[in-house]
Amino acid sequence: MSEPTLPQVMLITGGSRGIGAATALKAAASGWDVCVNYTANTVAADDIVAQCRAAGASAMAVRADVAVESDVIELFEETEAELGPLTCLVNNAGILHPMSRVEDMSIERLREVMDVNVLGAFMCAREAVRRMSTLNGGAGGTIVNVSSAASYLGSPNEFVDYAATKGAMDTLTIGLAKEVANESIRVNAVRPGLIDTDIHASSGVPDRVDQLAHNVPMQRGGTADEVADLILYLASDASSYVTGSLINVSGGR
Ligand code: NAP
Repeated sequence: MSEPTLPQVMLITGGSRGIGAATALKAAASGWDVCVNYTANTVAADDIVAQCRAAGASAMAVRADVAVESDVIELFEETEAELGPLTCLVNNAGILHPMSRVEDMSIERLREVMDVNVLGAFMCAREAVRRMSTLNGGAGGTIVNVSSAASYLGSPNEFVDYAATKGAMDTLTIGLAKEVANESIRVNAVRPGLIDTDIHASSGVPDRVDQLAHNVPMQRGGTADEVADLILYLASDASSYVTGSLINVSGGR
């Protein structure tokens, strides 16, 4: 008789909307149990959790600001207490400020984007490795970082600060992947291009995807589902020999 398989537990930061929400729904439909992290929109998070449960998954929502260390630690503790040992972290929570030239960026803006997009991602990766590394008694797992095409485009005159945080995330991916490769943890990044989500409203241009679609070789924006498919691949055993990879999902941009 074969051993019963343990539940696969995925924690998605920023799982209440956009790419994170699409990932939660696809994960639940593929047999994962899911923790949907969010920071403000409880209604959206509860709705995604209800849809995950309807697909047969165990699911929970946890409010936590990934930029706050005590929130991050509680997020991981609550996830494991309710769902069991973590097997995948999707480091997805990210923010964007209104378009600006670097010379006009306030220190408050710069600190906030670095805190959420860089320190948040580092702290979540740290908590995941503490639990998943075979060196620490864990059973291994995967980390998928949601970077951006901005890391190689640079986003001049728009948000060089945001682009730089995604450059940091790419380097985190490469370095951490090598650090834990022999500890049964794979670390990869997806680099979405123009994806139709709420995030563009934060940049002051809600219809940014439509406005810039002509710059994309495929002549269209992407969907959150198209990014989620790649995240699920990197989270799963289907990508068992892939680590330290930065994979563009950008229509050729
Ligand atoms: P979105 O639709 O704006 O959703 C952002 C999600 O992150 C929400 O669930 C939000 O929670 C959560 N969040 C924001 N700040 C948080 C914090 N401090 N702590 C915890 N959760 C937080 O964004 P998206 O477009 O799906 O983007 C997701 C990721 O993809 C980001 O890292 C973004 O940089 C990256 N990305 C997006 C695009 C694109 O074109 N959309 C392109 C490249 C990369 P609430 O619901 O509570 O606000």
